[in-house]
Amino acid sequence: MTDRTATVRPDRRAELAAGLARVRARIADACSAAGRDRTEVTMIAVTKTYPAGDVVALAGLGVTDVGENRDQEAAAKAAEVAAAGVAPRWHFIGQLQRNKCRSVVRYADVVQSVDSVRLAGALDAAAAAGRDRPLDVLVQVSIDGDPARGGAVPDSADPDRGLGPVAEAVAGAGALRLGGLMAVAPLGWEPERAFARLAEVTGWFRGLYPAATALSAGMSGDLEIAIGYGATHVRVGSALLGMRPTLR
Ligand SMILES: *Cc1c(COP(=O)(O)O)cnc(C)c1O
Repeated sequence: MTDRTATVRPDRRAELAAGLARVRARIADACSAAGRDRTEVTMIAVTKTYPAGDVVALAGLGVTDVGENRDQEAAAKAAEVAAAGVAPRWHFIGQLQRNKCRSVVRYADVVQSVDSVRLAGALDAAAAAGRDRPLDVLVQVSIDGDPARGGAVPDSADPDRGLGPVAEAVAGAGALRLGGLMAVAPLGWEPERAFARLAEVTGWFRGLYPAATALSAGMSGDLEIAIGYGATHVRVGSALLGMRPTLR
């Protein structure tokens, strides 16, 4: 059997175990407060800026899902983790450039940040050429309607950045599978207001795509509120791994 703790020191492993216990307790409490079953919420460990050894250690502690936001870093880390004999589910959660699609489809299991019809097309072509099974995709929603900050815009007539056209493009793409929605609470918005708005959009979206039930929302600072508004996936970085050295 692979020694899953080989690449981190025991004190780091203990630190990760403590962070994981705290985050799991927060998720469990938020689920009971919301009257939801704990099994409805999956935690994605956002390991950006942290080394492959941390991913291997987290997997050894039972973490199944990992999130990364930069292709170059993620590709190298995924290769290292695979070489250690560990196979978590990799979620790409960052802004994605079309010229990175060919790389991302090789290691990602889910891409959560599709927010334009053109990106959906590029990802579909890359997935068709570079994978033997469909790629799960979440459409990223812009909660404040400002496309400059990423996310497809609800109620927009923009044929490239409107949420309707983007969802339709993903749903119709042969090598992609539409799984649901993802969002980040905009800076300067109360999370309560942001996730209430997101829940409205999600209701509309599920009317059109009833099988696409994933809702990825909530991070270290606001996961309880997101769970209260129906998040099925929370993306947790700093509360689990510690403060990142730089803001990203
Ligand atoms: C970094 C990041 C997270 C995790 O943020 P924390 O506040 O550290 O939990 C979640 N989602 C996205 C899209 C991120 O880039």
